[in-house]
Amino acid sequence: MGKIHELDNVLANQIAAGEVIERPASIVKELVENSLDAHSHRIDIIVENAGLDSVRVIDDGDGIAKEDVAVAFRRHATSKISSQHDLFKVQTMGFRGEALPSIASVADVTLTTAQAEQNEGTMIHIRGGKTLVTKPAPARQGTDIKVTDLFFNTPARLKYLKSPQTELARITDIVNRLALANPAVAFSFTHNGRELFRSAGNDNLQQVVAAIYGVKAGRKMLAIQGEDNDFRINGYVSLPELTRASRQYITITINHRYIRNFELTKAIIQGYESKLMVGRYPLAVVNIDLDPVLVDVNVHPAKREVRLSKEQQLTHLLSQTIRKRISVENLIPEVDANQ
Ligand code: ADP
Ligand code: MG
Repeated sequence: MGKIHELDNVLANQIAAGEVIERPASIVKELVENSLDAHSHRIDIIVENAGLDSVRVIDDGDGIAKEDVAVAFRRHATSKISSQHDLFKVQTMGFRGEALPSIASVADVTLTTAQAEQNEGTMIHIRGGKTLVTKPAPARQGTDIKVTDLFFNTPARLKYLKSPQTELARITDIVNRLALANPAVAFSFTHNGRELFRSAGNDNLQQVVAAIYGVKAGRKMLAIQGEDNDFRINGYVSLPELTRASRQYITITINHRYIRNFELTKAIIQGYESKLMVGRYPLAVVNIDLDPVLVDVNVHPAKREVRLSKEQQLTHLLSQTIRKRISVENLIPEVDANQ
């Protein structure tokens, strides 16, 4: 008999979890992205002990139909794409069908969900990949998912987690960027019973910037706008006098997806020409809208990195847009001496 065999489901999911679920912040990211894909207007993120005890995300989105609830936890099960054709023009945050089964394979998950037209919702409780309970639940539209006991069955991963402060900082960072990428959605973020962040969801990016970086910093940010045949850029960048010692305060989103891209970050900095001191970086939130065929999001399991067509054209537009805005601003004398 041969010795090659297929891995059982739970083990296969745990392996996938190694790529997408590194820490509590990855859970927050995956769950909130699911809420965004479900057209939520409001997303509440409730975390205990930096996510080491629990992460809960409550949304008012589409919900999941009763017959789909168990399927949602199967690997490669997704409602978001169905053909290779779709893969080249992904419009949603998710499409790989990996987050829920991965999370459920390494933690304890309780999900309660209902759709608008249903008079009953569904609750499912899964632990370490095993379904313990499925039963009817109240019909409150949206999805409420709670993840506890992260990595209870994968001790090596548990050991790899950092201190609560570090894990909380990572969660805060991801919540901030998701809120910046989606100013039309009302976010709240509560840690150990204390509300740390709230956005109004009124599509006012400047307000979200002020809520995250402070009102004073918000006043030193300039609105930018630029476009060519392929790209549309909008956002806020700081005056050259408002800088930080790291690039971390630069947020770039592509079609509302927060991404990391070295070339685009460099283009933003280049827009300042010689106006920044060495080792200082601006604050910036830059949203780029483009035809999804121009971007390949299927490069990285957590989709943090993307591959862009026409990248040079975009970096050129980006640094030009910022350069022009900043040089115009320099001609205008300072109005408020108190700032
Ligand atoms: P993906 O997001 O790549 O499709 P996931 O494992 O994250 O894969 O989710 C599986 C499916 O479960 C999704 O395609 C979606 O249909 C459903 N789902 C997950 N979370 C939610 C939610 N908050 N609201 C509505 N549907 C959801
Ligand atoms: Mg998902």
